[in-house]
This record gives sequence, C-alpha cells and structure tokens, in this order.
Amino acid sequence: MSILQKNLIAGEWVSGESEIENHNPSDLTDLVGVYAQASSDQLNATLEQARLAQSQWAAVGMEKKQAVLMAIGNEMMERSEELGTLLSREEGKPLAEGKGEVFRAGQFFTYYAAECLRQLGENADSVRDGIEIDVRREPVGVVSIISPWNFPTATASWKIAPALCYGNAVVWKPANVTPASAVALSEIIARQDIPKGLFSLVMGSGSAIGSQLAASPLIDAVSFTGSVPVGKQIAGAAIANLTRVQLEMGSKNALVVMDDGDLDLAVGVALGGAFGGSGQKCTASSRLIVHDAVHDEFVEKLVKGAQAMKVGHALEEGTQIGPVVSEQQLKENLAYVKLGRSEGAELVCGGTRVDADHNGHYMCPGVFINTNNTMQINREEMFAPLAAVIKVDGYEEALSVTNDTHFGLTSGIVTRSLARATHFRRHARTGVVTVNLPTAGTDYHVPFGGRGESSYGPREQGKTAAEFYTIVKTAYISSGLPE
Ligand code: NDP
Repeated sequence: MSILQKNLIAGEWVSGESEIENHNPSDLTDLVGVYAQASSDQLNATLEQARLAQSQWAAVGMEKKQAVLMAIGNEMMERSEELGTLLSREEGKPLAEGKGEVFRAGQFFTYYAAECLRQLGENADSVRDGIEIDVRREPVGVVSIISPWNFPTATASWKIAPALCYGNAVVWKPANVTPASAVALSEIIARQDIPKGLFSLVMGSGSAIGSQLAASPLIDAVSFTGSVPVGKQIAGAAIANLTRVQLEMGSKNALVVMDDGDLDLAVGVALGGAFGGSGQKCTASSRLIVHDAVHDEFVEKLVKGAQAMKVGHALEEGTQIGPVVSEQQLKENLAYVKLGRSEGAELVCGGTRVDADHNGHYMCPGVFINTNNTMQINREEMFAPLAAVIKVDGYEEALSVTNDTHFGLTSGIVTRSLARATHFRRHARTGVVTVNLPTAGTDYHVPFGGRGESSYGPREQGKTAAEFYTIVKTAYISSGLPE
C-alpha cells in the first residue's frame, strides 16, 4: 500500500478532497505513488496565507534569501541521482536525462541564489533642480506557477527560483501526470527556514485547481508552461483581474540542413533534437528542412540512426528513447501518423507502437518524407517522436519555410557558411536560434522564450526573469534644503 503524498497548504502537509494514482509509463504495473488532490477551499486558504508570508519574505535580507536558494539548489544537485531516477520513473525520459534535469534544476536555484545579491537599481537626476530619482524593483506579490509534465522539475524550478529570489510567494500547481517530482522538490523547499506558507504545493487537475488558481483575484501573477489552448484560457482568466501573465507554449521548430553542412553532424543534431525526450519538448525540431542536394543522403542516414535508437524502459541502461508520457499522448501520436499518411506524406521508418518487455507506452521514432509545410503534421505541435522532412531548393526557401509557422520558439541551421549562419541568426523569426546544434537544450543564465503562439509576456530565465517577477518603483527625493 502506497503512502498518500500530501499537498503543502498554508505551510502544512495535508490530505486533499480526493486522490490519484501515478503509474510508471515504462511499466504500468509499477505504482509510483498516490497523490492528494487539493480542494477549492484549500487553495483559497493557502493563497491567503501566501499573502502574509510574502510580506515577511520581502523583508528578509538578501544574504538570507541567497542562503535559502543555495541550500535548495545544492541539495537537488547532490540528490540528482535519486531524484532523477524518480523523475524518469514517473515521466519516462531515459535515466541520464532525468538525472541531468534534476541537476540543471538545482543550478537554477544556485544561479538565482547569486542573483539575490545582484539586485541593483538605477539612479538619476530629476529634470527639476535639487531632486534625485531612485528606480528599483519590488516583488510582484503572490505568484502562481502552473507547470507541465515534460520537464517536471526543471520548468518548475526556472519559475520558482526567480520568484523566491525576487521576494515573492509561490503557489505551485504541477501537472497531475508527474506529481512525484513535484512532491520531492516541495519537500526540499519546505524544509528551509522560510515564512510559513511562502511556498505552497497544490496538486489537482488543471480543469479544477489550475483554472481556479489562474482566475483567482488573490494572485498577482501567473506563469504557465503548456499547450496553446490552455495558455489562452489562463491568459483570459488572468487578464480579467489584470493579473500579470507569462506563457510558454508549444512550437513547431525547424532545423535547416544546408548542402554545405557536415552531414553526419546534421544527422546527430536532427536525431537529438527530434527524438530526445521522445520528442516531448517545446524545443523539439519536428520539421527538418533539407537542401535537395543532400536530401537523399541525409534521409538515408537519418533513418539508419532512428532505427538504431534503443526504445525501452526509462531506467534500463542503454535506453535512448523512453515511453511517451501517457496512453492519451500515445493515441494522439499514432493519430498524427495516420493523419500524415492521409495528407500524402511517406512514413519511411517507425511511427508505430512498440511491444517492449514491459507494459508501457512505447513508440519507435518515425520519419516522414515527401512532406510540405502546408500539411497539418508540419503546422501542429505533435509532441511525439516524429519528424517530417521538407525538401527545399536553397537557403532562401529554407528560411521562408522556417518562418512560415504560427509559432516561433527555436530554429536551427547546420551549415559551414558563416554568411548563411549569420543571415539565419538574424532573420529566423524565433526567440532562440542555434547554429550546428540541436534546437533543444538551453542555458540557465540567458533569456528563454519565443514569438508568435510560442510565448507571451516577458522572457524566462537569466536576469530577464526580473521583468516578470518584479515591479518597478520610481522614487523622487528632495532634501528639502536649498541647493
Ligand atoms: P496542458 O496545457 O493541458 O497542461 C499544462 C499544465 O496546465 C498542467 O499542469 C495542466 O494540469 C494545467 N492545466 C490544464 N488545463 C488547465 C486549465 N484549464 N487551467 C489551468 N491549468 C490547466 O498540456 P497537456 O499536458 O495536456 O499536453 C497537451 C499538449 O500540450 C502536448 O501534447 C503538447 O503539445 C503541449 N505541451 C507543451 C508543453 C511545452 O513545454 N510547451 C508542455 C506540455 C504540453 P493537469 O495536466 O494536471 O490537468
């Protein structure tokens, strides 16, 4: 019998109004745990306590805040093996990726620990004689964080760490598919010397607790990562209260492979970018835009590479592609395979359910060729281990196809030409551009975000995070004495 994992409400671990079971997608017979679902009243109670705690935390000195964030980050890095295993067990990404994610999440905390000590304002003289101006940032207040399952620890951490660093309270609703990672991180945060109720964990479904949280007048800001439709719903609810909102959503990222590029490098970059994390990344390159001079050779090598990738249990050594996160996700992926074929695309490998040694949601990586950019498989985020090759006759067409999307998170080019790399970097309409690197994989000390339907609001990560998690105050000061 599994112990019930509780929510952190107003500083106390409490049971909820119901419970859910969390199963390992690599092996559905493995019950990861049982998790409380917060009630509407619990959410309101924790939001009220968060308001009190936030004013106490805002008054805490910067060295104390720094020490708290550093302790959280260090513990996560030290326990990345254990917590990464838990993450991989419940989410399905291969163990090395799970451990890497937890370690990286720790780095978000240590990075923002240092930022606690680097909060400088600006000063200026007034246009009026004898008056000085002081411009500084203050906390926004109570911040709600609604996070997805694909990076259950990292995404939450790159929101929670800056929120706490800049003096805010946090009410976190993680995805219900990955509650174990959420409880593990919350336990570490809750153990710190912080005001009671400064940090809350409210597990529950998006349609119940998530929508109540986004629409609550008791929050000052909401940061969300997930799908476009839900992002739009959250934005609508938040704007009704004039709540500050930040959204990171889907994308349809393109990797351009030029005829002057290193083809083996291009294949490695495409395999990693399209199939890493089973393609369940907002930065995944599901559109592979390939120059016709190298198209056939690239496809041949790509297919060989995709077929050689080991699909299997996330915790087993050698696994390169774990299961997809849920039965629902697998169904949607297979529906995209059917759709692609009905649109005239040719599936040259994979794209099928795999019966592995365990009972899980396994799918082998699939490659479509003979596709064009008007097909739905090239318009919609599939979030699957599926990639579609689009043949183009030159750089100009490659750039034009790259930019022909409603999204705009990341794009990449493989080329040896400095001129093309530079032109692409400047003209790709995405928030992140990579050259000779996968479209997925970003650093923590620089901004992250996109354009179009990929993002809304200020950028996340790095120093730019302050734009969302703080409010600027401008003070005018006169000594009252004659100059
Ligand atoms: P969702 O957008 O539904 O979920 C993201 C988060 O929002 C989860 O915590 C979810 O809760 C919550 N949520 C859901 N509905 C609401 C609501 N009405 N109000 C407030 N919060 C809500 O994504 P899914 O997990 O359903 O994935 C569907 C698709 O979204 C994927 O296939 C992919 O295309 C895209 N996606 C993109 C991500 C990205 O990184 N940009 C991440 C995840 C998904 P809960 O799940 O617990 O109900």
